[in-house]
Amino acid sequence: MPKDFYKTLEVDKNASKEEIKKSFHKLAHKYHPDKNKGDDKKFKEINEAYQTLSDDKKRASYDQFGNADMGGASYGGNPGGGFGGFGYQNANGEMEFDMGDLGDIFGDFFGGGGRKQSVRRGRDISTEIDLSFEDSIFGVKREVYIKKQSVCDTCKGSGGKPGSKMDTCKICNGNGQLREIKRSILGNFSSVKTCETCLGSGKIPSIKCENCNGEGVYRKEEKLNITIPAGVNSGEMIKMTGQGEAVRGGNPGDLYIKMNIGKHSTFKRDGLNLTMDLSIKLTDALLGMTYKLKTLEGYNIDVKIPEGINHNDLLRVKGKGVPSTRGRGDIILHIQVIMPKKLSRSTKEIIERLKVEGI
Ligand code: ZN
Repeated sequence: MPKDFYKTLEVDKNASKEEIKKSFHKLAHKYHPDKNKGDDKKFKEINEAYQTLSDDKKRASYDQFGNADMGGASYGGNPGGGFGGFGYQNANGEMEFDMGDLGDIFGDFFGGGGRKQSVRRGRDISTEIDLSFEDSIFGVKREVYIKKQSVCDTCKGSGGKPGSKMDTCKICNGNGQLREIKRSILGNFSSVKTCETCLGSGKIPSIKCENCNGEGVYRKEEKLNITIPAGVNSGEMIKMTGQGEAVRGGNPGDLYIKMNIGKHSTFKRDGLNLTMDLSIKLTDALLGMTYKLKTLEGYNIDVKIPEGINHNDLLRVKGKGVPSTRGRGDIILHIQVIMPKKLSRSTKEIIERLKVEGI
C-alpha cells in the first residue's frame, strides 16, 4: 500500500492547493526538528507529501497510480544491470570507481562547480503498445519483443573472448585517461578525458570476443515483461529505466513505451469516470424504468431511471468507473430522450387529452 500523503498532511482528498499549503505550514511548524516537540521522521514525511501534493502533475499521477512519478518504480528496470557498471580494475589490480555521482554531491557543496565525468550511456529507445480500452482501465501484463543493442551473452559485455587475458591499453598506458594540453592566451591548460580505446578501464582484451566482434554488445531481439498499470491514458508513456540500448563500459539507456488505446463500443473515458449515452423512449422518460447496465467488467447491474427524467440529464452509477488509489470513478449515463417521429391518429388523441390536463 502506498503512503497516504493526504493523511500525512491531514487534508481531505479534494483539498485545494491553498488548503494543502496551509496544513503543510501548520504541520511543518509543529514537527520541525528544531522544536522541542519536533519529530524528524514526521517532518520528512510531511515534506515528502507536500512535494507531491503541491505539484499538480505529481498530484494527479499520485491520485491515479499512488506514485508521483509515472515512470517510476515497479517496472523492473535494472540500470547498469550486471554489465559494465562503473567499477574497473586498474593496472595495479585495485578497483577504481567512477566519480560521477560524487561529483554531483560535491557540486551541491560548491555551488554547482563539481567535476562531472561523462559516463557512456546507451541510447534511449521507444516502442508502442496497442491496448484494448478494457486493458487500459484495469491494467494488464504484456510480453513485448524489442530489437536493441544488448549485452553480449558470450563475453558478458567485456568484449574479450572468455578466458583470454586482458592487455594494458597501449593508447593510455593503462591509465584509462588521456591528458591533453591546450594552449590559450592565458597559458596552457591540461584537460583529462577518458580513453576511448579502453573506455577508461585501462585494459583491452587480448583476444576479441567472436560473438560481438569485441563490441561487448550486439543487436538482438529481447523479450520484456511489462506490467501496465490500471488507468493509463492514450498517448501516455511508461518509462523502463535501464531497458534501453546497452553500451560497452557504460550504462544502458531507458525504454519508453507509448500506449495506444482502442475505442470502446459503449464507454468513453473522462478522467476517472466512464461516460455513455443512453437513449430512452419518451414513455420510459415519463414513467421511469429499470435499465440493465453492462459494466466494463461485463456484468449487468440494474439502474433505476426515475420517472420524469429530462433529456440531457446525467445519472451517476457510483464506483464502476476507472480504478485509482483514490478509489474508483463512476459511470455517468447521459440520458437522451427519443421523441416519437410519427404519431398514429389514436396516439394523437391521447396526447390531446394530456394537453388538456396541462402536461
Ligand atoms: Zn561478446
